[in-house]
Amino acid sequence: MEKFDIAIIGAGPGGYVAAIHAAKNGKKVALIERDKLGGACYNVGCIPSKILLEHSKLVQAINRGNSWGIETDNVKINFPRLMQRKDTIIQELLTNIEHYIINNHITLYRGEATLTKDLLITVGNETLTASDIILATGSKPYVPPFEGLESATYFTTDTFFNLKELPAQLTIIGGGVIAVEMAFSLAPLGTKITMLNHSEDILQTEEPEARPLIREKMKKLGIELITDFQFEKFEGHTIHTTKGIYTYENLLFATGRRPNTEIAQHLELTFEGRLIAVNEHLQTSQPHIYAIGDLVGGYQLAHSASAEGIYAVDYIMGNQPALIDQASIPRCVYTHPEIATFGLLEEQVKVPYTMTKMPLQTNPKALMEGNTEGFVKLITKEGSGQILGACVVGDGATEMLNAILAAKNSGGTALSLAQMIFPHPTVSEHIGDTAKAVFGKAIHQ
Ligand SMILES: Cc1cc2nc3c(=O)[nH]c(=O)nc-3n(C[C@H](O)[C@H](O)[C@H](O)COP(=O)(O)OP(=O)(O)OC[C@H]3O[C@@H](n4cnc5c(N)ncnc54)[C@H](O)[C@@H]3O)c2cc1C
Repeated sequence: MEKFDIAIIGAGPGGYVAAIHAAKNGKKVALIERDKLGGACYNVGCIPSKILLEHSKLVQAINRGNSWGIETDNVKINFPRLMQRKDTIIQELLTNIEHYIINNHITLYRGEATLTKDLLITVGNETLTASDIILATGSKPYVPPFEGLESATYFTTDTFFNLKELPAQLTIIGGGVIAVEMAFSLAPLGTKITMLNHSEDILQTEEPEARPLIREKMKKLGIELITDFQFEKFEGHTIHTTKGIYTYENLLFATGRRPNTEIAQHLELTFEGRLIAVNEHLQTSQPHIYAIGDLVGGYQLAHSASAEGIYAVDYIMGNQPALIDQASIPRCVYTHPEIATFGLLEEQVKVPYTMTKMPLQTNPKALMEGNTEGFVKLITKEGSGQILGACVVGDGATEMLNAILAAKNSGGTALSLAQMIFPHPTVSEHIGDTAKAVFGKAIHQ
């Protein structure tokens, strides 16, 4: 039986990153994966969804170009080629991950892992053991048990990215980040989207001031949004709700995810609801078993899983890493415009604060690009200018936010951002002017 320093179960963005980090620090590492490397993120999550969104962004850019005088004939969508492009990119990324694993001398076991309390791991006919184990088994789509659902045919995000034809119509159940991104990825290609979201509004976990912009854009894209109702039952291709009966050709559930905790069934681990309970060091109730990523609380995001993987490895090695600051974890919605946020929303701030917001309408680069929907918003502590939270809404917001985050993480304040010299013309220079506005000294206001 082979013995490892660290064994990691699950090779998603949590597990494979943890494995590489541990190997680069001289540890003997086993990584076990039952399916494809890269986990949900690379195969049925972040990567395929963002590739589809890039296609839809390009169609929107072509449409903008037409209105500027760059005239193109009818845009035709060759959906199988778009999907082929998606598969090629994913394959390239997975091959890269495999190379990193080989180059770092990580022992990769292919198969379903089971685990006993005394840290014995079984994969098929093989048994291995390790001084420390990191559980990184991720999550799967959740479909609520609606009445009559057995009569419906539907996709989840686990099956949707295998589509062969562009759907003429798609009804999406849900109103969170994934549901909204899926709507934005297909509507510009020509799919007629209906979104059924039983709660009052979409994107309820995101910046409230971003929501009207996204709703407005959804309207422009012809996405029908139905909110604030109760589901009654599903009957074949019809959905009965308290607001009316809706028919669909294709149906996608984007109604959240549930952790893959089957791995913990022979362990006496403590749970917090459905999630595995961990302390601030990501240790479960069994000291040599750690859990990271979608299995534990915090943001269910790929970069959060990776950061936790690196933290757990550093902690195991006794490096006393700095605790992960949830307020420094960026949250991104890749709609058009994008929404990128970190730290506190206004409603969460408990100290005296200043909210400063500047719309992009006056930004020269945003005007040139025809992308003026959006704003830069800073929430700073009154007096010190400490950055408590930030939100950028706009084209490229997910890249722009990093400038504010870098300032915050290196101890900078609103003053540091106000003093920074941004290149002109860029949309990012709006960050500098918004920071100046914190002190009432914005130039373009
Ligand atoms: C449509 C969609 C879009 C998303 N977009 C983004 C985005 O843009 N940005 C972002 O940050 N996040 C995004 N996410 C979320 C992101 O995909 C997850 O937060 C992330 O994948 C979690 O990483 P993880 O390593 O915890 O788990 P996973 O990626 O789920 O990986 C877990 C791995 O463990 C394996 N496994 C499970 N059980 C066992 C076992 N017993 N033995 C062996 N292997 C096992 C699984 O096969 C899987 O490969 C998106 C998710 C979806 C569904």
